Amino acid sequence: MKEDKHKDIKKIPLGILGATGSVGQKFIELLQDHPFFEIRALAASQRSAGKTYRDAVNWFQKSPLSDTFAEMIVSDCKPDLPCKIVFSGLDADVAGPIERSFANAGYYVISNAKNHRMEDNVPLLIAEVNPEHLALIEKQKSSGKIICNPNCSSIGLIMALKPLQDAFGIEQVSIVTMQALSGAGYPGISSLDIIDNVIPYIKGEEEKIETETLKVLGSYKGERIQYADYSISAQCNRVAVIDGHTASVSVKLKKPCSKAELIAAWQGFRSQPWELGLPSAPEKPIYYFEEAAYPQPKLHRDLGKGMSLSIGHLRKCSVLDYKFTILSHNTIRGAAGGAILNAELLVKKGYLDEK
Ligand code: NAP
Repeated sequence: MKEDKHKDIKKIPLGILGATGSVGQKFIELLQDHPFFEIRALAASQRSAGKTYRDAVNWFQKSPLSDTFAEMIVSDCKPDLPCKIVFSGLDADVAGPIERSFANAGYYVISNAKNHRMEDNVPLLIAEVNPEHLALIEKQKSSGKIICNPNCSSIGLIMALKPLQDAFGIEQVSIVTMQALSGAGYPGISSLDIIDNVIPYIKGEEEKIETETLKVLGSYKGERIQYADYSISAQCNRVAVIDGHTASVSVKLKKPCSKAELIAAWQGFRSQPWELGLPSAPEKPIYYFEEAAYPQPKLHRDLGKGMSLSIGHLRKCSVLDYKFTILSHNTIRGAAGGAILNAELLVKKGYLDEK
């Protein structure tokens, strides 16, 4: 159990861009009673602006919408919100210029959208994996800064690969995803398209996994990110699961290792965010299962309050070296929860201290 070391911290006001969407709602759910942050503004498109949040949103989270947020008036996504940090769950069709306008106006933007992820001076951050990349924001010229989350299916893969890369080195990776419906936003795919079906195409997803993973797992020594140097082949499928992206992964390693050594690398994975006492850091970033039919979204997506990666069904691969199954919660670990953890790291590293 973590003691409440944060109770005396002065809360930092924040806004949520795209507050009505799938990720935006998850931000609100996770940020109620957060020890570092306090929601002061909810913003979305002009379809929603001016309405109470209750009228603008189709709330579909498990916990009830609190009156405090229900009665807030939704703002336009203009950089005049009463806060210094914004979490973005904006549709990627509009996120690029809106997030940039906030950064130019001095806001810290913690984004889930793809638009700025691959820019040289934007950290693509998983707090447990590459916290040192956060320093890249010092290279951004704007008074505000942009920090991005990787794509929701890249995040699980990256967390699984990081301990293997450090211990054995990686030569090749193949991944086949089975991605949940909530990953397509709200209302997402029509029921007639997905019930009794698998859709073997998600626009742009394979390219994102193949490139973002190498940036996050690249090294940063103060100049620029040196991308990891192996190849990844991704194939992505949409399946009729509500939350939780599952994937079958095969890896070829640089150094030979036993199954026990591989498991030990995952189980020994130490997380800087947990050691720093960040409130959203899961005590166990990785759960490894011996049961052949695990992990499964229905059973394991909420482990570590949705922030842990589950791995199982590990066995020898006759093409590469080993194959296994991974699972992570796409709107928590893969979006809102991961972004909040990144913001907690930003606070802990002193970037939001009054100058
Ligand atoms: P979503 O449910 O479709 O929500 C999109 C949000 O963007 C809504 O709040 C919408 O507001 C707002 N918006 C749309 N057009 C706008 C405009 N012109 N100006 C201002 N706001 C506008 O999408 P989502 O699934 O939450 O995804 C949000 C972002 O996170 C996307 O970039 C997505 O790729 C990324 N992401 C999603 C997941 C996931 O699992 N869902 C995971 C990782 C990353 P209105 O309601 O007013 O239209």
